[in-house]
Formats: sequence, C-alpha cells, structure tokens
Amino acid sequence: MQMISRATCTMGASFPRSSKVRSEFPVWPGVRQFCFRKSLLYGFMRLLSTPLKTLRGASRSIRVDQFCSVVNTSSSLQIELVPCLRDNYAYLLHDVDTGTVGVVDPSESIPIIDALSRKNRNLTYIMNTHHHHDHTGGNAELKARYGAKVIGSGVDKNRIPGIDIILNDGDKWMFAGHEVLVMETPGHTRGHISFYFPGSGAIFSGDTLFSLSCGKLFEGTPEEMLSSLKKIMSLPDDTSIYCGHEYTLSNSKFALSIEPENEELHSYAAHVAHLRHKGLPTIPSTLKIEKACNPFLRTSSIEIRRSLDIADTADDAVALGVIRQAKDDF
Ligand SMILES: [Zn+2]
Repeated sequence: MQMISRATCTMGASFPRSSKVRSEFPVWPGVRQFCFRKSLLYGFMRLLSTPLKTLRGASRSIRVDQFCSVVNTSSSLQIELVPCLRDNYAYLLHDVDTGTVGVVDPSESIPIIDALSRKNRNLTYIMNTHHHHDHTGGNAELKARYGAKVIGSGVDKNRIPGIDIILNDGDKWMFAGHEVLVMETPGHTRGHISFYFPGSGAIFSGDTLFSLSCGKLFEGTPEEMLSSLKKIMSLPDDTSIYCGHEYTLSNSKFALSIEPENEELHSYAAHVAHLRHKGLPTIPSTLKIEKACNPFLRTSSIEIRRSLDIADTADDAVALGVIRQAKDDF
C-alpha cells in the first residue's frame, strides 16, 4: 500500500517548484532551464539516496517502489522511466485518453510487471530498439502475460524475440493516436531503430545516442553511426532524448578529458554529477544539450581533434572512429 502513495505520479503540481533542486543549479543558465523544465514535468521522482547499483539484488519490488519518474509530454502521452538490470532504462508509455500502454526495451519483465501492477494497467505493445538481450529480455514473459504485440525492425526480424509487427526506416506507426516515426539508426547493431514521437518531442534512441556518448560499434562502421547520429541531429533541438542506459556520469569524464575547455560541458557534467549523487536519473537529455556537449556529435571540434591527434582535414566519420576507439580504451 505504501507503494501506491509513492507511485501517485500525476505531474506538475506535486513537484515542489521552489525545491532546492532548482536553486542548487546556478552554474549554467541552460541547465537551470533544463531543471525548471524537469521540475514542471516530473511529478514525483525519487530513488532515495541509494544508487541503483546498491539496490540491485536486494529486492526488485523495493527498488521500483522507490523510483517513480513520469513525464507528461505536451500531448496526452506519459513516459515513465523504469530502471532495469544494472543501468538499463525501460520506458512505459501511457496514453491518457485510451489507457493504451507500451513499453520500450524491457530488459527484464519483473520491474515492468511491478510498474504496471501498481497502476492496474495492461500492456498492449512491446517496442524494441534492437535485439540485444538487455533490451529484449522481458519480451517473452510480458507477451505471454499480457498478450502484448512485439514491435521491431524488419532488418532484425529474426533476432527480436516474439516479433509481431515489423517496421522499417521511414515507416509511420500509430501508438494510440500518437504518430511514431521509425528511424533506422544502425552502427551499434545492424537493425537498430529509434522511435521518434514528433507530437511529444521525444525520441527513444536505444543504444545509438546516449547522453554524452554513442553506442559501441558492434555491427557497424563509424560511417553508419555518424549517419545515424546525423539523422537524430536533424530533429528539433528541444527533442527529449530517452536512451537505453544510465551512463551519463562516466561518459562525462571521457568527454571532459578530450574537450576540457568546453564550458557548457563542464556545467552539464556538474549537473549530472549532482543528479547521480542524489540517485536521480539524468534522462531525458535534450538534443540541444547533446549538440553542445556530446563528443560524438562534435566531431568537428578543433579541441577534440587536437586532443586525439585527428587531422583538421580528416572527415567526420574518421574522427568519430577515433573518438569511439579512445572511449573504448578510456
Ligand atoms: Zn545494445
């Protein structure tokens, strides 16, 4: 019963706008604005002060009880972060008008079932950005329990467990009246896709674009990853970035190591450290922040190129490959 009161995540009014969360970020106007936006959007957001890692293995239900982060977008779509495994995020999408619920990248089933049970909700769709087990591990159990339809890339239709609906680059799909644009974003895997909700200004970027980094190039080339990132960069700057992992703090250390003069990066890194210290998610980020701070979106930065001995004349894909290798070795 305790969890019901904790999980009352109606937005806006319940988050204390005058809380010290805002006043503790005087460092960067952009961050302040970002925090203010978050404070408007987040009704309740708490993981106490215990990091996700230390809660892992203790009790999954406790962990989920203590964490509730729901974003009301400008449309009638609510987005709830659900921590899974060690550092994954799944996202529950809830259309307020119809009660339709989908989940993006359920790494495991139990945290999703817990989150749905708290609000007595069913599950209609399972959306996978790519086939890796830490994004699809909950597919089979959730599909069996709720009869949900699994949605994934046509390129990876043989690797997405339980796939029912196949989508390809440029396809438009409707989630309870919300338009979803499917963008193939390969590089991390061959069949990686991102789900863009233009009406909500949100993209689920899986392991293609993280805050302050991009995914490892397991099945793709730097050229492919660069092309995928450019697709995402073509979206509006205020697009919210919902990625597959909470890696931002460690990513910030690498980013600072190769672009130490980037003041916006310093400010954002301080903001990220503060959030993580409080046990709060750094997600969603925005495209504006990523363009200003993410080294993989800044392949033309003179400072980054000097740091990694990348020639001024080298093209952006070569630069991205060098940055990715340096990150892998960091
Ligand atoms: Zn992956």
